[in-house]
Amino acid sequence: LYEFNKLVSTQFFMVGEFEFIEKLRRKYSLGAIGDDCAVLPKDEKTDQVITADLLVEDIDFRLDWTKPEFLGHKALAISLSDIAAMGAEPKWAMLSLGIPENVWHSDFIDRFYDGWFSLADEFNVELIGGDVSRVPERLVIDSIVIGEVAKGKAILRSGARPGDLIFVTGKLGGAAAGLQLMKNGLSYESMKPDRDIELTLRQLQPLPQVNIAKLLKIQAIVTSMIDISDGLSSDLMHLCKESGVGAKVYADRIPVDENLRDLYRSEQERLEIALNGGEDFELLFTVPEAQLSSLNTWTFLRSAR
Ligand code: ADP
Ligand code: MG
Repeated sequence: LYEFNKLVSTQFFMVGEFEFIEKLRRKYSLGAIGDDCAVLPKDEKTDQVITADLLVEDIDFRLDWTKPEFLGHKALAISLSDIAAMGAEPKWAMLSLGIPENVWHSDFIDRFYDGWFSLADEFNVELIGGDVSRVPERLVIDSIVIGEVAKGKAILRSGARPGDLIFVTGKLGGAAAGLQLMKNGLSYESMKPDRDIELTLRQLQPLPQVNIAKLLKIQAIVTSMIDISDGLSSDLMHLCKESGVGAKVYADRIPVDENLRDLYRSEQERLEIALNGGEDFELLFTVPEAQLSSLNTWTFLRSAR
């Protein structure tokens, strides 16, 4: 038993992704890990922020459910979302691809880069490098994005204080509902109702909230921020944990995507998807109550209180 315990305490037993990261952080005392991006000093006026995201075929996407252009877009969008969550401006990207034989001999790569560059151009992101290799079976995409923010001004997950109000941009649950539609057998190409197309696009071609982050940054009233990639429930938990606070969320204040209404009859079910669904890539942030009036002109924001 002693030997076994020793083994348990020195090796990684992966319960889940979060536990893995937590263990890594503790075991090697890694101070920089744990936010949407790592913050690096650049010069007296500027900090750099950097994020890495890995997408694996049949785990994070399915080629028969999406289009190469959407996948190129999404590979960049998820990293831009992490940059936005720091209140930073994206600048440069590195993109690495592991490409299986059949994909190499198709028009996939051209179309993938078309999708990637149309989003990159929108936010003036420059591709500065990457790597490419063959892989035996499944496509792998590794996205790195670097951004900049004024010195000491990156918005961390750890800045929330007791009494702050909790906000999210946009509506929640759409991306998860879109994924469910595809799991039920609909592909994007075969979809008819606008509602289904809209939901599916929330999943396949998410829009990173880079512009809203810029506005929030200008207002300088946000105490903490994270992007909602895993779902409001998980990401709010991350934010609370890093800030050392708790949170109270009122069910009737959750901005559930209206498109879910006739897909899911029960309100409970809609709420669960909005809370736990993930991949909406909206921003979750906190603001001191005294600063609330500065936010009031923004109709896209809904208070959680
Ligand atoms: P996000 O969902 O915002 O992309 P993740 O949940 O992937 O964030 O990661 C949380 C934190 O853990 C980040 O700071 C990230 O850089 C770090 N992290 C994730 N995987 C690893 C790893 N394999 N090695 C070191 N740090 C990691
Ligand atoms: Mg994130």
